Amino acid sequence: MVEVKNLKKNFGTLEVLKGVDLKVKEKDIVVIIGPSGSGKSTLLRCINFLEMPNSGKVYINGEEVKKKNHDIDSLRRKVSMVFQHFNLFPHKTVIENVMEGPTQVTKMSKVKATKLAKLLLKKVGLEDKANVYPEMLSGGQKQRVAIARSLAMEPDVILFDEPTSALDPELVGEVIAVINDLAKEGMTMVIVTHEIWFAREVADKVIVMDEGVIIEEGSADKVFNNPDNERTAQFLKQVT
Ligand code: ATP
Ligand code: MG
Repeated sequence: MVEVKNLKKNFGTLEVLKGVDLKVKEKDIVVIIGPSGSGKSTLLRCINFLEMPNSGKVYINGEEVKKKNHDIDSLRRKVSMVFQHFNLFPHKTVIENVMEGPTQVTKMSKVKATKLAKLLLKKVGLEDKANVYPEMLSGGQKQRVAIARSLAMEPDVILFDEPTSALDPELVGEVIAVINDLAKEGMTMVIVTHEIWFAREVADKVIVMDEGVIIEEGSADKVFNNPDNERTAQFLKQVT
């Protein structure tokens, strides 16, 4: 489904990704953890070409993504991203936010996109908020809209970058419940999170990054209970 080979990314002289290899199989839920600054967000952004990798390859469904515009457009339809700070359009209503992708990118008719958006808002429990503006919503509600918007592109895989870390603690659960529903439906997902309990519950594979490389990879049970790398153990001590 998603394969990353020897991915490298520098910002100036700062080497942020130093050769990352990653495989995400269909229906897999891969959770990425690791200290701040280790390159987790940059990795997700490079998979989606929101950042241009300096070298390395990204394959989606076996096809290499080249740095041509049409490749990147079609990539973004297959691989969508949910951000820590929601990134909703403030001047559009909730339903318009969800319809934006299908109507603008895939040229779906307005009637069809409205139907789809209503269905997705229902799925994330926000059908009654369709016509309000994002500023009227709580953080948890905003993030659920962002997830609905991401689903509207009917992606093959969703990348989540700390989807709950901007939320008040009491709102984390409602967003995780939506992600859990997607997991049950077999959605393929890559999730960067600091919620270790959630990672334990949902991950098929846990990846630990440190200083631009993957230092550990395995089942949640293995990584959390019996890590091979001393730095993994140290990191887990700090966050749990
Ligand atoms: P956090 O847990 O804090 O979100 P992270 O693991 O997601 O951290 P990244 O955001 O990928 O880390 O950042 C990795 C390194 O790259 C950091 O040192 C960061 O300052 C740097 N960096 C990220 N984006 C840029 C950029 N656009 N320009 C320059 N440096 C950047
Ligand atoms: Mg980050």
